Amino acid sequence: MNLHEYQSKSIFGSYGIPVPNGKVAATPAQAKAIAQELGGRVVVKSQVLTGGRGKAGGIKLANNPDEAEQIAGQILSMTIRGLPVRKVLIDPAANIKTEIYLGITNDRGARKPVLMASAAGGVDIEEVARVSPEKIIRTHIDPLMGLRDYQARDVAIGMDLPREHWAQFIQISRKLWEVYRDNDATLAEINPLVITGEGRLMALDGKMSIDDNALSVGRHPNLETMRDLDVEEASEIEAKQHDLSYIRLDGNIGCMVNGAGLAMTTMDVIKLFGGSPANFLDIGGGAGPDKVAAAFRIILKEPNVKAILINIFGGITRCDDVARGILTAMSEVGVHVPMVIRLVGTNAKEGRELLANANMGTAETLTEAAQKVVAAAQSAN
Ligand code: GDP
Ligand code: MN
Repeated sequence: MNLHEYQSKSIFGSYGIPVPNGKVAATPAQAKAIAQELGGRVVVKSQVLTGGRGKAGGIKLANNPDEAEQIAGQILSMTIRGLPVRKVLIDPAANIKTEIYLGITNDRGARKPVLMASAAGGVDIEEVARVSPEKIIRTHIDPLMGLRDYQARDVAIGMDLPREHWAQFIQISRKLWEVYRDNDATLAEINPLVITGEGRLMALDGKMSIDDNALSVGRHPNLETMRDLDVEEASEIEAKQHDLSYIRLDGNIGCMVNGAGLAMTTMDVIKLFGGSPANFLDIGGGAGPDKVAAAFRIILKEPNVKAILINIFGGITRCDDVARGILTAMSEVGVHVPMVIRLVGTNAKEGRELLANANMGTAETLTEAAQKVVAAAQSAN
């Protein structure tokens, strides 16, 4: 899950990282009121979950409250990289002398978090990494020891940060590490971290990604409320409500499987026979008819789906329950695509009988099932 700039900066602020004291507005009138309250020049910033908002015209300075209102109106009607702007952040305009990049992410290769900083901040850091990688200074963080002050100081030296800013830079780096660690983040980034005309460091932008696995086990109920449902797939939200692991893909064969390993195997076998899965869907162990029906509805709502493969290995999950779920869902939503079903394991015989009574055939092996469903999807195209 990605957090908006204003959410990330409010977390940064609560850890003591200096951030501007702005507020969020959803209408031009609110933007004007906030600008009045702040006084002086303000910056109006679109809150959308994508980078490069500045370049896209989604960040503009306003000299007075009237201008802030007018610019907010403009920005609130924009769509940036397909994302409609629904909120703007009104921050007091900063007096920027220098823009620095500072971020922490996971380095999977090193199996450790890594702190990265660059004096070439403000701009697209991926571009800096590509054109002049030597301008990015890195240090790995031992997850048990945490970021040590000497490490942050070495980074400051590596990027030629003037000595008078070291103390503040070290402190901000350490706090950013605490933010990252405490919130199970996979990214905590400040770009730009600016040096102001007054010689202070301040986080003007903020970006955080939170590990969804940490959220799904309930480690951060406070962050869960920050989820922007606007940007998430409606189908993925529905799946979450029914406790289904569902990921949309771009193929045309809908899959319903129990168990993550079997789901991946099923997708591989579909590909082996020249097909392409429309989703990953694990209904989990012990799924009853209701859950199966919910999964089925989600698959059927996808317009790309040309055929469906249901592959169930009945262990705790009972194949007759699955069959009942399929029949329930079919009576609720019209099934407009061919379906191939494979049931093996607990109560497979009863399940197959239920389906046979409803004039639905089943496949014996995964190979047979995959070949049939790929052929069905191809002839539908
Ligand atoms: P991004 O383009 O989505 O990364 O959005 P940022 O928040 O990083 O803003 C982009 C750029 O706008 C920054 O690098 C700054 O140069 C500029 N900017 C942002 N806030 C202010 C501000 O308060 N004052 C001034 N003068 N420029 C700002
Ligand atoms: Mn930025």
